[in-house]
Amino acid sequence: MKLNKTNLEQRLNHLYDVIVVGGGAGGLSAGIYLQRFRLSSLIIDKGKARSFWMQALHNYLGLPPDTSGRQLLQQGKQHYSALAGDFLEGYVEAVTEEVNTFTVRVKVGRQNSRHVKFYSKYLIVASGIIDHLVPLDDMQTVYDYAGYNLHVCMVCDGYEMIDQHCGFFAGSETSIEEMVFNLSWFTPKITIFTHGLFEVSDQMRGQLQEHGYRLVETPIQKFLGENHQMTGVELVDGSVIALETGLISMGSRYHNTYLQGLGLEMKGSNLVTDKLGRTSHPRIFAIGDLKVGLNQVVVAAGDGALAATQIWREIRKDAGPRKWLENVKVSA
Ligand SMILES: Cc1cc2nc3c(=O)[nH]c(=O)nc-3n(C[C@H](O)[C@H](O)[C@H](O)COP(=O)(O)OP(=O)(O)OC[C@H]3O[C@@H](n4cnc5c(N)ncnc54)[C@H](O)[C@@H]3O)c2cc1C
Repeated sequence: MKLNKTNLEQRLNHLYDVIVVGGGAGGLSAGIYLQRFRLSSLIIDKGKARSFWMQALHNYLGLPPDTSGRQLLQQGKQHYSALAGDFLEGYVEAVTEEVNTFTVRVKVGRQNSRHVKFYSKYLIVASGIIDHLVPLDDMQTVYDYAGYNLHVCMVCDGYEMIDQHCGFFAGSETSIEEMVFNLSWFTPKITIFTHGLFEVSDQMRGQLQEHGYRLVETPIQKFLGENHQMTGVELVDGSVIALETGLISMGSRYHNTYLQGLGLEMKGSNLVTDKLGRTSHPRIFAIGDLKVGLNQVVVAAGDGALAATQIWREIRKDAGPRKWLENVKVSA
């Protein structure tokens, strides 16, 4: 059932088997598995998943390579709701635990918001991350191209950049170190932009020079282009640098504030899990971009399957096998 401010009363006293925080690729996949295992699940999602910004999913088996993230999410939501899963558009503010039950506090609606609580035995956290973009005065010139030929993920889109002149928009010297030399696998035509955000060491300057990569430290005024195709940047001094593609590597925001207080083991900002997605808490599973691993749709969807199946195994084991009662009577 699609829950909203007016009908959520019906579920406030329900103890769900699983509440899934986040309805992106991972959360929806988990929800589909949970419902097919005849478990009761609620997905709570604040919207605009990372995959929402993905204009084309080029690397997913079985889907046409121009499938957009929006199509994927829409299809996933329809699939989940056809299996009678509960879905609520809302923002999870906090999770607490008492006597083996999680209390999930949710803000519903931006205006005249309601603050409500839902309860579950297990929790799947699938709330993902969101990329930091180049911070310009006019962000619209970034949004016009981000996800088109201004990429945020080399694993996803390195192939799209082959031998093109690529602007690499770095957030720190570490991001240059970690990414630029790998990006050269796809293209050696790299211009690095620091946007004046940090100092580059002499050692790094030397390395970039050795490889023929240009370094631009003047801040960017705006991105240029049309029809969502970025063609270059204009710097604050008025000069223009032509580009064919771009990769932004400025870090990410992790959607994990609601987990504070649960003491989960982290590696940096990612949650540490075992192979099935279990965190350091036995009844909290983490899937997709939020956990340590590869940030890809296919991985998030696979994670959802693994976590949901493990939860089913545990709940099924606790419940024990069902009996065929009529048959028991007949044979007695
Ligand atoms: C521009 C772009 C292009 C990409 N291209 C590709 C590609 O070609 N191939 C590929 O495999 N991957 C690609 N990716 C990566 C892919 O989008 C992610 O790996 C994938 O979406 C991760 O899924 P997820 O379920 O972990 O998180 P998400 O899809 O981000 O879903 C998380 C959801 O949780 C919600 N949420 C967060 N906090 C809360 C909260 N407190 N309460 C309620 N809800 C919350 C978010 O709003 C979001 O809807 C791309 C990403 C971007 C940005």
